[in-house]
Amino acid sequence: MQLKVIGTGSKGNAYLLENEEEALLIECGVNIRAIKQAINFNFKKVNACIVTHEHGDHAKSIKELMAAGVKVYTGRKTFETLKIETNHHRANSIFQNDDFKVGGFKVKSFDVKHDAAEPVGFLINHQESGNVLFLTDTMYCSYTFRNLNNIIIEANYSREILRDKLAAMEFLKNRILQSHMSLETCIDFLKANDLTAVNNVVLIHLSDSNSNEKQFKNEVFKATGKNVTVADNGLEIEFNKTPF
Ligand SMILES: [Zn+2]
Ligand SMILES: [Zn+2]
Repeated sequence: MQLKVIGTGSKGNAYLLENEEEALLIECGVNIRAIKQAINFNFKKVNACIVTHEHGDHAKSIKELMAAGVKVYTGRKTFETLKIETNHHRANSIFQNDDFKVGGFKVKSFDVKHDAAEPVGFLINHQESGNVLFLTDTMYCSYTFRNLNNIIIEANYSREILRDKLAAMEFLKNRILQSHMSLETCIDFLKANDLTAVNNVVLIHLSDSNSNEKQFKNEVFKATGKNVTVADNGLEIEFNKTPF
């Protein structure tokens, strides 16, 4: 299995889990052209697109994807906020704590803390990638997980950088603090989970102005001892259950 980062950050998020036979798109917050290129114009290969919440940087191309024949799974309120008919045959409404199967991917959703209608995170299982956690746009995570093999997690800002930069911008600072995950919370979360079988920690959705790639990578590596990658548009990495 491979993870392809089509887009990451507040300009747009889309991630593809793909092997030779099938693919799962996670988020579609980028231009549809970027998605088409990433999947080599082969929509048939994409089992589904799973979307965490309605913000444009996660859901921008949802209607185009549905028009192109891709099934979308997200919260009912998320569809409603996006003005998509929930009885559309490609709109699959899920609950904040739900499970469903698309091709070889088994997906569990769980609730997260974000300023959106019905935001979720995903635990994805595929026999090649093992258990993949996808966690973004959340102040923190209320759950811990067992037997994770690969982790895709938001490290949006560092409290220190934010404090220094946004001292005079209370509103913006509070919005970030209450809806995104800091590096510090990300590290606390990772340490609270059993990482024995984890092959990759991929940091996503870094803020352009309130993060520092090198520092984030080093600190997460120091705290976990795991292979840490900071996602960048176009990144492709092996995402398997076993490390070879
Ligand atoms: Zn976002
Ligand atoms: Zn958001």
